[in-house]
Amino acid sequence: MTTSFIPPKRILMGPGPSDVPQRILDAMARPTIGHLDPAFVDLMEQIKAMLRMAFQTENALTFPVSAPGSAGMEMCFVNLVEPGDKVIVCRNGVFGGRMLENVKRCGGVPVVVDDAWGAAVDPQKVRDAFKANPDAKMLAFVHAETSTGAQSDAEALGKIAQEFGALTIMDCVTSLGGTPLYMDKWGIDAVYSGSQKCLSCTPGLSPVSFSERAIARIKARTTVVQSWFLDLNLVLGYWQSAGKRTYHHTAPINPMYGLHEALVILEEEGLENAWARHRAMHEKLKAGLEGMGLNYVVEASARLPQLNSIYVPEGVDEAAVRARLLNEFNLEIGAGLGDMSGKIWRIGLMGYSAKQENVDYCLKALKTCLP
Ligand SMILES: *Cc1c(COP(=O)(O)O)cnc(C)c1O
Repeated sequence: MTTSFIPPKRILMGPGPSDVPQRILDAMARPTIGHLDPAFVDLMEQIKAMLRMAFQTENALTFPVSAPGSAGMEMCFVNLVEPGDKVIVCRNGVFGGRMLENVKRCGGVPVVVDDAWGAAVDPQKVRDAFKANPDAKMLAFVHAETSTGAQSDAEALGKIAQEFGALTIMDCVTSLGGTPLYMDKWGIDAVYSGSQKCLSCTPGLSPVSFSERAIARIKARTTVVQSWFLDLNLVLGYWQSAGKRTYHHTAPINPMYGLHEALVILEEEGLENAWARHRAMHEKLKAGLEGMGLNYVVEASARLPQLNSIYVPEGVDEAAVRARLLNEFNLEIGAGLGDMSGKIWRIGLMGYSAKQENVDYCLKALKTCLP
């Protein structure tokens, strides 16, 4: 007979999920209640308020989509992009490529701004793209490119889009809670994130937020949103209207307890303190890695504290090292994606994983596994 699944105890220092603190796991083990229960409705309101704090926004339409980060991405694109809409899409890694794929599938007309993998998005190229395409309605870019460890200047990019009267969609799956993010101050219109990166919750929820301008655009659509599940007009009845909430889908109740706890933890620590902790742990890890002769992929000015990508030294079998880290040290780090497969490692310092003992443990384990 099949027996219960007992997962091995791991230390998660890859590109996500990050270590989930016991407090969050405990919260998730509390009894399930109905998704229209007044107590659950209260919880939803608290989650929305705390997400506004995390995104630094006043947007009323801020909530977690009941699915992973990729679903938050789809929600942004299927609602905001109508067939024929021109969208400037920045691609400097895997996740920018996924944005492009979304624009195409929505029938949008993409204008691609390419930058090298490992580099930040070049604001000058974006400006040039708007000049060449004054009819572009939207700009889409990834704030924190987890595939490479590069961070782009969201403030500069948001300003350019506003100058040209375009809306901005930003992927902040890896930036939320880990690195400075000011949605309103930067004038970003739609964002999506994930529960399992710097919030250190379990995977499966995607916090999103939409500005009034974004909502106006959605309301002015002339075509129906092709996805039923992600159509904001329908989801709104469930997440938005306190008092007379209507059934849309059954929210994942217990994961929502977990997200609530993760946000309480973030509030307790303080958002700016959380950003500072990620930065401090990154500095310590960097000193250790560089002391071992390892080199960063991304130049210092664009480096993400929470995702450290380093080149695999010449002659080292990267997969064998990762396997040994996992089997002997119970330590997970990430491999390279796409063009960087086999060439880099990605060491995550996300959320609860961004702590001194993890940094020390990771450096010690790597030292043992490298020749
Ligand atoms: C992880 C990640 C996603 C996808 O999130 P899932 O929860 O895996 O669907 C999207 N964008 C970026 C930048 C990510 O790091």
